Amino acid sequence: MARYIFITGGVVSSLGKGLASAALGALLQARGFSVRLRKLDPYLNVDPGTMSPFEHGEVFVTDDGAETDLDLGHYERFTGVPARQTDSVSSGRIYSTVLEKERRGDYLGKTIQVVPHVTNEIKEFLKIGEDEVDFMLCEIGGTVGDIEGLPFFEAIRQFAHDKKRGQCIFMHLTLLPYLAASGELKTKPTQHSVKELQSIGIAPDILVCRSEHPIPEKEREKIALFCNVRKEAVVAAYDLKSIYEAPLAYHEQGLDQAVLDAFDISPAPAPNLAMWHDVYDRIHNPEGHVKVAIVGKYTQLEDAYKSIAEALTHGGMANRVKVKIEWVDAELFDREDAAPYLEGYHAILVPGGFGERGTEGKIKAAQFAREKKIPYLGICLGMQMAVIEAARNVAGLAKAGSEEFDHEAGGKRFEPVVYHLKEWVQGNHTVARKADDDKGGTMRLGAYTASLTPGSKVADVYGSTTIEERHRHRYEVDTKYRETLESAGLLFSGMSPDGKLPEIVEWQDHPWFIGVQFHPELKSKPFAPHPLFADFVRAAVEMSRLV
Ligand code: GLN
Repeated sequence: MARYIFITGGVVSSLGKGLASAALGALLQARGFSVRLRKLDPYLNVDPGTMSPFEHGEVFVTDDGAETDLDLGHYERFTGVPARQTDSVSSGRIYSTVLEKERRGDYLGKTIQVVPHVTNEIKEFLKIGEDEVDFMLCEIGGTVGDIEGLPFFEAIRQFAHDKKRGQCIFMHLTLLPYLAASGELKTKPTQHSVKELQSIGIAPDILVCRSEHPIPEKEREKIALFCNVRKEAVVAAYDLKSIYEAPLAYHEQGLDQAVLDAFDISPAPAPNLAMWHDVYDRIHNPEGHVKVAIVGKYTQLEDAYKSIAEALTHGGMANRVKVKIEWVDAELFDREDAAPYLEGYHAILVPGGFGERGTEGKIKAAQFAREKKIPYLGICLGMQMAVIEAARNVAGLAKAGSEEFDHEAGGKRFEPVVYHLKEWVQGNHTVARKADDDKGGTMRLGAYTASLTPGSKVADVYGSTTIEERHRHRYEVDTKYRETLESAGLLFSGMSPDGKLPEIVEWQDHPWFIGVQFHPELKSKPFAPHPLFADFVRAAVEMSRLV
């Protein structure tokens, strides 16, 4: 039966709860335990799939097709445990399940209330897979005191009460602000936030305190005394140069030991941190750098492309170089020459995206990379852009375009339409999409197999001809144009196993130009960089030697 660690936050948001949870997961693994990490989000969207990246950052997709919070990406990158549908839940999902049950009559005429019906539903969610791992880490989104979060806090309180004593602990993240005028770290906000927790029946076992300055012994004692935790359980979280230092930094501050002590696990198995020392070394001792342009739409907000930025960092680690990412807004050259914006980069990446805005600029970026022989990685929409560019500028289909944008404009602007809504096979049934379907959860989502052409660049990069990657899109290349595009030199080097859906395209007479319909970035880890990103950065390093 799993032991549960509930992770909550107080004082302010954005303290790095997700990172702390992920790092703690990694440390428990380093001590030989198995872990699973979960996120409970108080917002009312059923999942983040319909939220704009401006609102919520990237949507992280799991193998089993759930659209989840980007914190699940951190969890996977630190623990290597593939997240599942059952590792992410929101108030919206909980309420919609409760309301479905009510409509079905499952509650036998009872009045439906937050306590116990909503809280019971949350507790049921928490219990899923409780026999599978040693530790279940459950992070509650938001900050203690938020109205929306209350049912979750009440549910975890009850949950710990239902379980055997010592089977659940609470870890709370807070902030110690620094007052420059008096040169002091202030503990009062932490005290208040712990009081808030206590008022709803939760007494934290561990406090993780974010601080820009070392926490003096005196302050630590004060926090321990006023917040009713042991002094060793007041753990400092200082700012880090790289998130991948977090496991080592938290270990140094005694977080994993404090957790094992709170569960009374003794003697504690010694940690093996060799992997994280190697990660640290690769991050801090690069032997050069490359400059990569990400040509996208949400460039003001790095969280929108979180996993891509991380996967590029991992690709850099594989090659022992630092990858300097520059965000280039595609709209800047929608109607202008792209060259002045794209010169000087060692590689160009066009990421996923939705909607027409900026697409003409992205198509120009693909053209620039093809003509100048600069390494290009097109992800999802980035592959769509590469295919349209190939059709227009190489295969002689000057007005080629995509149904995605025609649909938005409500007319027939493109001829031919090389990207379409399609059907696909999921398990043993066929799924089809229409343009006016519901927006939530209706894309081609999750892991699908692709067969790669032996001898192609991608088969070489993966070292295999069968791969499995995660998808999140509606539109696909129309295979009607495969022959035309292939005779122009764009090889369809990866296909769905039934041969109906193009998964990968590559230019044959180019040093490194690959478009993929899926999201390889979601599976990359610092200790296991994704082969596409590792090889893309390798090609960028080669490019940097030429210029
Ligand atoms: N908008 C495109 C589609 O739905 C691409 C999606 C993406 O890049 N993830 O097919």
